[in-house]
Amino acid sequence: MKYPETDKIKMGEAEVEEKFPFDINPMYEGERIRKAGMYVELGGQDKPGFELVLFEPEPEKIKDGEVSLIGPDLDGMEEGGTYGYAMIYRVYGEQIEKDLEAVIERRNHEYQGYIQGYMHLNQRAEVWVRISKETVKKGLKSVKQIGRATMMLFKAELPFIEKMDATYITDEEEVVKRLEEANKIYEARDMRARGLHDEDVDEFYQCTLCQSFAPTNVCVVSPDRTALCGAMSWFDSRAAARIDPEGPNALILKGECIDPIGGEYTGVNEAAVRLSSGEYDSIKLHAFLDKPHTSCGCFEVAGFYIPEVDGMGWVHRGSKVSDTPIGLPFSIIASSVGGGKQVKGFLGIGIQYFYSPKFIQYDGGWCRVVWMASDLKERVGDAIPEEMNDSIATEKDVRNIEELKEFLKKVDHPVVNGVIREVDGVRITEGWAVAAEVAAPPALVEGAVPVEAKNQVPMQVMASGAGGNPPIKIILKDAEISVGKIIVRRKEEK
Ligand code: SF4
Repeated sequence: MKYPETDKIKMGEAEVEEKFPFDINPMYEGERIRKAGMYVELGGQDKPGFELVLFEPEPEKIKDGEVSLIGPDLDGMEEGGTYGYAMIYRVYGEQIEKDLEAVIERRNHEYQGYIQGYMHLNQRAEVWVRISKETVKKGLKSVKQIGRATMMLFKAELPFIEKMDATYITDEEEVVKRLEEANKIYEARDMRARGLHDEDVDEFYQCTLCQSFAPTNVCVVSPDRTALCGAMSWFDSRAAARIDPEGPNALILKGECIDPIGGEYTGVNEAAVRLSSGEYDSIKLHAFLDKPHTSCGCFEVAGFYIPEVDGMGWVHRGSKVSDTPIGLPFSIIASSVGGGKQVKGFLGIGIQYFYSPKFIQYDGGWCRVVWMASDLKERVGDAIPEEMNDSIATEKDVRNIEELKEFLKKVDHPVVNGVIREVDGVRITEGWAVAAEVAAPPALVEGAVPVEAKNQVPMQVMASGAGGNPPIKIILKDAEISVGKIIVRRKEEK
């Protein structure tokens, strides 16, 4: 689709054409702006930011096409500086209902991605924007121009939006103030979705919005598994599918339930084949290690398997914690999780999934969680079962795997002696401490360099066969390996 290069804007009573000083095209989706090339950064890790769409039932209250700005504009910002940023849109349309707010809001990411020289990442209160020096040089003078271009795209792509206006905020104090209100709205949306479960409905919804940069990603939104980006609940997806059944949030009939604990359905598997172009043929919605849900890159939280303790760790986007016990920060873990792949040992989820009664239940649920970033643990504290709360370590308790092992033994964490899956009472692990006793690790060869915690990445270890030495298959993905010395010895004849 070719978008107009101009937009009509009001100048007093007159209506004039504005030529955008940037190109608008879906091919710019996924464009990255590096620090050296950025004019300013808005929101992100260091400054507050959010985006919000609100349904306005009284159309006369909307000044169609108008963008108001509270705070400094680009010419009042220092080059290389970082500022708070809020984008609040009000929409009206006869077919629009409140349920559609989140759906329209999620499209802000997509449409702003079409703007050349403007990088938009994440969603809700985690938006991170960069504007390139190049675009400013070409004539971009105001964030209002961005707002007008964005609204032009919204109306071109979603014709059910009849009227729309926007308030952009760059004044940090004001962003913080309005963010409090926005958080209440996000929370109310999330709360609504918590009362409904997968077994209560006959259909789930797909979302293909992120396939532009992760072509094999298969996002399935069910009542018990909200979207991994956190922006779309089952209700939001249903509203989107109703208004635009051919759009990215089409319906998936559940079909037959193959595995109620893992959350595997024939309808989801068919969707997996179709949406991934045959790359995947099955997905378990509530598993971590077996046929996991794919992750595009927008997940709010990244989970990683820690083989040494046979448990999972979790760290979220925007966490202040720099390192996890496996020695890697969120950014590095995120690069292993994303890309629309089904990566065993890593999982991207939305914050709300912690509140799901089916949270990774196939792999033991909370009994398998061994570590969380402290700010994440605090944030979802009310989702953690009371009996597990003190058993989950944070960076304040442990710094590496060895300390984590000691911690888990001290608190008698279920992973130490074996996890019994709560939902069906089946013992699903034998416990790493038990396994370690049975097969004590070989002593280090003299002169060999131990692998540093930094390089210990989650790996998949599969043993098979009975008796003797079982064959072991080790898969290292995106591993950073440094070897100080390798000693090769001839195996002595017996
Ligand atoms: S992360 Fe998934 S649900 Fe969220 S917008 Fe992308 S494809 Fe849709």
